Amino acid sequence: MFGAWHIVEGNFAFLLLASGAAIASPVGGWLGSHGKIGTLFLSISVGMAAGVLLGTFTFEMIPTAGAAAGKIPTIAGFVVGFLTVYIFDLYINHGFIAGHESDEWHKLSRLHRIQRARGSKVTLLAGSTAIEELIEGLSIGVGLAADPNLGVMIGVAIMLDNVVEGMSIAEIIRAEEGENASRSIYVWTCLIGLALFSSAIVGWTFLSDIAPSMLGVLLAFGAGGMFYLTIADLLPRSAKTQYQQSAALAVAAGFLLIFALTNR
Ligand SMILES: [Zn+2]
Repeated sequence: MFGAWHIVEGNFAFLLLASGAAIASPVGGWLGSHGKIGTLFLSISVGMAAGVLLGTFTFEMIPTAGAAAGKIPTIAGFVVGFLTVYIFDLYINHGFIAGHESDEWHKLSRLHRIQRARGSKVTLLAGSTAIEELIEGLSIGVGLAADPNLGVMIGVAIMLDNVVEGMSIAEIIRAEEGENASRSIYVWTCLIGLALFSSAIVGWTFLSDIAPSMLGVLLAFGAGGMFYLTIADLLPRSAKTQYQQSAALAVAAGFLLIFALTNR
């Protein structure tokens, strides 16, 4: 039975994790706004965050979801989470995503000359990050409700992710707005942190009482959404900022770190 002490303890752990992951964004922004972060450092830290997230899905979130909800609901939750972020990404990019070296790139750049992208590059990036944080926050709340250790794991992985995310957002804002960018950096990274914190509260307070199988599906949903972000956003960013080898090594290190920390 859960006594009053357990409730207090649970809420305290939640507040610590959710506020830590939320504050990580402005902290990353602050780090990024003070002097240039080297590309090698950025590549290694972004790669490390990607590896830690991949390890968290692989060794923690998906196995826990599978045990609670069964295989088919877990796969369904993952697919829906993945598609939600994928479709959001398509919407932001006017239904068209192509790499610079692809045959489709010419078509895309022509399209963009006709219809300008929705908002400036900074607004687009920071705004979409804030919306993506909703899934991360939800995963912290739901993860903690499913299993305290899992919640801590997810929270710490997202904390690391948000520091490097804040740093690279700061780099991009600085590139667009020059040396007077600090204000925009603080406003955006605080907004991103706030988005995470509010959805974490929703995950923790409203979803902690639902059936374990439903928690499993939500966990798979969160894993699918964050999986897309890791593969489509973090990994390319890590590989692009430096030699691909530094990225690959950092991803592997982060991935194995989570395996080492997992008690399975
Ligand atoms: Zn994030």
